[in-house]
Amino acid sequence: MSRRRRVYEGKAKIMYEGPEPGTLVQYFKDDATAFNNQKKGVITGKGVLNNRISEYLFLRLAEIGIPTHLVRRLNMREQLVREVEVFPLEVVVRNVAAGSFTQRFGVAEGTALPRSIVEYYYKNDELGDPMVTEEHITAFGWAAPPDLDDILSLALRINDFLAGLFLGVNLRLVDFKLEFGRLWENEEMRIVLCDEISPDSCRLWDMQTNEKMDKDRFRRDLGGVAEAYQEVARRLGIMPEAGPRDLKGPATLQ
Ligand code: UDP
Repeated sequence: MSRRRRVYEGKAKIMYEGPEPGTLVQYFKDDATAFNNQKKGVITGKGVLNNRISEYLFLRLAEIGIPTHLVRRLNMREQLVREVEVFPLEVVVRNVAAGSFTQRFGVAEGTALPRSIVEYYYKNDELGDPMVTEEHITAFGWAAPPDLDDILSLALRINDFLAGLFLGVNLRLVDFKLEFGRLWENEEMRIVLCDEISPDSCRLWDMQTNEKMDKDRFRRDLGGVAEAYQEVARRLGIMPEAGPRDLKGPATLQ
């Protein structure tokens, strides 16, 4: 079996060198972390589900003209993606108060926000991903002002589209996190969506019951984490063919 070079290993994914220059293979793990790595666990089958869910959402977004790093899904746990220069930013879009927002601003969980709010966090584990403003981002050179304009408008378009898509399957898109990167093509630079969009990076509540169908089940020890991710996949119509027994997948695909 050929050994691929591991370019980067994160909390939930591994990036390997891709088959051609300018490509990477994004491998989805079952590992879960929360609270800046203080809580760790394994959610069996999560990687398979997130691979499918994120592929589905990226393909739908590409259909409405959002550029993404996705080339294609390769197998149960891997996607072929374009290599991009990732901005060191987490772009969070919020429609309903939850998580850190409720604590920071003293707003009760579940309060609908007067309009969608976009926040930026500087990706830095040692600093605990601090919230930053456009001033910090442009002063430190993490992104240029026109890049940020593009990122903001892409984030809002993605939010409008995904909020509607999830509403169609009876899920409320409470908030989510996006990452963007620069892609160079013949001297031209484009900003593209990268990383993943999955129940690891979104808060999704059942429209009627407000039941949490996302990583908050892991963060708060609510149980039924894998089942909630499966239900999201099922509602989107993308449950892996063989059902839950398909979820364990091959342990490694090297
Ligand atoms: N989020 C994420 N990765 C992070 C931080 C947040 O995917 O490192 C997502 C999280 O799942 C939620 C949204 O971004 O959907 C907003 O998270 P929040 O700022 O409320 O932080 P949390 O409460 O998750 O610590």
